[in-house]
Amino acid sequence: MRAPAKVNLHLSVGQRRPDGFHDLTTVFQAVGLYDDVTLTRSDALTVTVQGTGAAEVPLDASNLAVRAVALLAERTGGDPRVAVHIAKGIPVAGGCAGGSADAAAALVGADALWGTGWSREQLASLGAELGSDVPFALHGGTALGTGRGEQLTAVLEQGEFSWVLALSEAGLSTPAVYAELDRQRETGPVGVVSDPAEVLAALRKGDAVALGRSLGNDLQSAALALAPRLRRLLDTGRDLGALGAIVSGSGPTVALLARDDGHAVALAAALAGQDVCSAVRRAEGPVAGARVLETS
Ligand code: ATP
Repeated sequence: MRAPAKVNLHLSVGQRRPDGFHDLTTVFQAVGLYDDVTLTRSDALTVTVQGTGAAEVPLDASNLAVRAVALLAERTGGDPRVAVHIAKGIPVAGGCAGGSADAAAALVGADALWGTGWSREQLASLGAELGSDVPFALHGGTALGTGRGEQLTAVLEQGEFSWVLALSEAGLSTPAVYAELDRQRETGPVGVVSDPAEVLAALRKGDAVALGRSLGNDLQSAALALAPRLRRLLDTGRDLGALGAIVSGSGPTVALLARDDGHAVALAAALAGQDVCSAVRRAEGPVAGARVLETS
């Protein structure tokens, strides 16, 4: 199974709700950076992880792919004795929803392994119990997310966009970034983006220049407060000619929009030559959501 990373082209964050969550309005795009998840029948539910940031991923029952297998087993009667293997290509704690991608891939994979035959909608509503970004990892493409980000509406769009993702070694904890935003809001209005209309119009036209100009993320100021070095990365990306530069979700991954593939190659090479991030990846968007690559 293969599941993609996401970037938030637009992310506006409402006030903290009594249940601790925030209402969001977001536009997600699935981009071509993937985790591959393999499920094999076994004598216990186990998980192994390899690849980028593997050492940071939990190997116990808190792993999101393990939780996904356990939850689907509980609801369907499937046999949860499965060996889960995750090959990570998505940065861990990077703001690209890698854990959610693994959960989505595991849901699709366990459904196929057990022949459960659940629809995407059924898997998505189960996935929302695991994390707000899981339904989008199943959906893929580009979508408007409301609620906690789990209520999705497909977006009219055309064309492909070329992204350069600048990775940072030290991750940022999503709850810590939201807490920092709440703290900043105690002393003044923080939140610059409220309406995704411009992003949606740019997507409808397939206009990369307009999309670059309209990217916005309310979590960016909080991410920059916790990781100030990201400011230089954003500035460098813009100086190198990116159409737009934004912290992805809660960061620290920074997404730079290129004019086209050729520009992305040049931008990635130029960025890699500066001492502003730990790694650089190119990725096209939009791409499909979690899917089965092969069954044995
Ligand atoms: P988001 O963008 O959804 O806020 P993120 O991309 O910042 O998330 P993830 O890589 O999804 O962060 O992981 C966040 C935390 O979740 C990690 O620090 C890790 O402890 C935990 N986690 C649990 N299962 C997984 C998994 N399969 N892969 C990665 N992290 C996992």
